[in-house]
Amino acid sequence: MKKLLYGLISSLFLLSVVASDALASHSWGNYHWARIANPFTLKFGDNLSSAWKPYLATTTNDWNQSSVLEAQTEAGQSGKNCSSTTGRVEVCNKKYGNNGWLGIAQIWVSGDHITKGVVKVNDTYFNTAKYNKPEWRNLVMCQEVGHTLGLDHQDEKFDNPNLGSCMDYTSNPDSNQHPNTHDYEQLEVIYSHLDSFSTIGALAVKNFGQYLTENLENPNEWGQKIKDNGAIAEYERRLPTGLKLHTFVIWAN
Ligand SMILES: [Zn+2]
Ligand SMILES: [Zn+2]
Repeated sequence: MKKLLYGLISSLFLLSVVASDALASHSWGNYHWARIANPFTLKFGDNLSSAWKPYLATTTNDWNQSSVLEAQTEAGQSGKNCSSTTGRVEVCNKKYGNNGWLGIAQIWVSGDHITKGVVKVNDTYFNTAKYNKPEWRNLVMCQEVGHTLGLDHQDEKFDNPNLGSCMDYTSNPDSNQHPNTHDYEQLEVIYSHLDSFSTIGALAVKNFGQYLTENLENPNEWGQKIKDNGAIAEYERRLPTGLKLHTFVIWAN
């Protein structure tokens, strides 16, 4: 009887692995915002200069098409250093210097749950002729915001045909400026369960606090490199409190 039960459980497990593999092809781990109901409202703090504001508006409007979430922009709370706030995502731009990166998304997680996020875009490169284009601004803003929702890349090769998604990295962003149907389906998979508590906004039950005072702009502060293909990279840093900091990077060329 016990053996039978084990057999049943393991085949169920196998089935669910196969099923989630077919559906969930581009989440990063199992990371998601904890919430007690869908759709949930996530606030994106606008700390941007006037040149960038329309791009965040476009991106939040795009992700807002998802059936599981409402993405809203409101005034940023970050100040000069783009500091993070529990329960929301702050979005910033600045000339961060020739540090190699065009854009980053930084996400703090507790267990499987996202507790806060920061998106930064680097004007040192966006002010150059190569990147000072709506196509690049849309791709980078859309992809970094997508990471803060729990999405990974659909594709990481820069020279194959575009998939029509900003979660597809490319050297030619023309047709990859917005999410596609697959991204919305992926969000439905990630957020198909509900949690007993929330990590979002004022409902966040724990104050996860401010554990880092660094600016976190320097790759030296990002911890261990998980992957890097020269165009995009991901880093993970374990914090003393048990929180983990994930950094998604789009390198400038
Ligand atoms: Zn959950
Ligand atoms: Zn990315």
